[in-house]
Amino acid sequence: MIFFVSSSGHCTFDCQYCIVNPIVKHQPSLNYSDLDYLLNYFNGQKSFFAFSGSGDFFAGYPRSERLLSRLLERDVEVALDTNASILQDFKELSSAQLEKIRYINLTMHYHQIKEKKLQQRWIDNTQYFLKKRSDQVFPDYIMSPSLMNEWFEALQFYKDNIFAATGKKILMVRDIKNPFNTEQENYFQKLSNDFDDMIEGKHMEDFSKTFSDHEVICPAGQQYFRIWNDGRVQGCPNLPDAAEIFDNGNLKQRNLRVQQQPFVCTTPNFCDCRVIGDLGKMKIKH
Ligand code: SF4
Ligand code: SF4
Repeated sequence: MIFFVSSSGHCTFDCQYCIVNPIVKHQPSLNYSDLDYLLNYFNGQKSFFAFSGSGDFFAGYPRSERLLSRLLERDVEVALDTNASILQDFKELSSAQLEKIRYINLTMHYHQIKEKKLQQRWIDNTQYFLKKRSDQVFPDYIMSPSLMNEWFEALQFYKDNIFAATGKKILMVRDIKNPFNTEQENYFQKLSNDFDDMIEGKHMEDFSKTFSDHEVICPAGQQYFRIWNDGRVQGCPNLPDAAEIFDNGNLKQRNLRVQQQPFVCTTPNFCDCRVIGDLGKMKIKH
């Protein structure tokens, strides 16, 4: 089973380039009893949770709930997004629980870190993630044109405080909301050369290329679900014309529905499709 959970919908930051709009601040979130219901519904089948897609997972629940540690006691694997401003119960995890964390996408939102005076906390948290799960942590920095005057300072901050201490490289990511002009692109390239030794290689930022020109047999609604912080469950959130097919219930209302047939899709262009594909569950239709 694959669950792409739009975690809490919460976030402690207010990045101007955020693609999540609006970020939820004081709305309901999923809690452990919701996740327990979900896992039990599928009879405890091994499940992969990607907590991403809206807000910051670690920001969205009280530490006392121990949501991450309790989930990691089950037969699961987990991928997480974090802005590294909060650790929650991460420090309480045993080695066996840490092993189940397959991927931590750790983004350095430098402008917010500086504005909220979180430099030291961010450094400590990032170093802690790296100490515990170095190979599974993927740091990146979103380079937004409007913050171009900070690019150098941000990369130097990472170099002095993280790269020098841990050797972990960082990925420079273009702000997808605001394309670069020529001057910005040239500066981006210059910095990528100047910081060459600590910059991670390229990754594909355009999800649409993964399965372009293919019709696929997709497990959305059967073995793949998108779950929102208010409990709504959708097989696929990307196809408004098929919204009725992909209305799979609501966790908080303890009501789930699984489709009988796999979905044949001609537009596998979204990040959901890529998550499914990366986990080896998408079949190309011949
Ligand atoms: S940390 Fe991420 S989710 Fe939060 S405001 Fe910034 S870009 Fe948006
Ligand atoms: S858009 Fe992607 S996730 Fe949705 S049905 Fe098509 S292939 Fe599946």
